Amino acid sequence: MLAVLVGCGPSDGPGDGAGRSPGAGPAPWTGPLPPVVDRVPTRDAVVFLTYDDGAERDPRFIDLVRERRLPVSLFLTDSVVGPGYAHFARLRSVGASLQNHTLDHPALRGLPYAGQRAEICGQQRKLASRFGVRPRLFRPPYGTYDTTTLRAAADCGIAAVVLWRATLEPDGHLTYTDGPHHLNPGDIIAVPSGEAPSLTLTERTARLLDELAERGLEVGRLEDHVGHR
Ligand SMILES: [Zn+2]
Repeated sequence: MLAVLVGCGPSDGPGDGAGRSPGAGPAPWTGPLPPVVDRVPTRDAVVFLTYDDGAERDPRFIDLVRERRLPVSLFLTDSVVGPGYAHFARLRSVGASLQNHTLDHPALRGLPYAGQRAEICGQQRKLASRFGVRPRLFRPPYGTYDTTTLRAAADCGIAAVVLWRATLEPDGHLTYTDGPHHLNPGDIIAVPSGEAPSLTLTERTARLLDELAERGLEVGRLEDHVGHR
């Protein structure tokens, strides 16, 4: 028995059959797939701050990003941002980049090609129409994906799929998915939207910046390091 497909998806994954039904949906992408990154190889003393969903809209966070000139990346989900797009337009105007985190925040792994593509391309279109941007970075909700996700993302113009090595928890401490339990240059830090977090987004970020300063690390701009073909 031959292993014919790159295997990170379920064995009966939708990618295997998506091309067999002409007319049932878009033909799957057959070009190169975007890399999946959870850290960036660099000798620069930088880490990357990535915020998910867009649930918390604290005006003080805009002030912090502006005052500290933080080149943060915001992975936005349309159904979460809802009527809050003005907040993110302001964040963009002070230096944040806006990236893709799907329309509705489903767990993509195992979904058919057409459905995954609709979630990703649909949010590309939303972000283009709201902000005039064409995101090149995509973060799958919950960090779960399969080969079909990578094909769909490439089809939608995504150049890199961004996971994370460290998470800034709602109470302000860091946890790690693997590797050493301290920050290293090149680490991508995810800041999920907490439900009623004990610290606001601004407080958590300010605390993290203190920790970065102690370690001699600065915040880098993720798009400068990933997503270039
Ligand atoms: Zn999310």
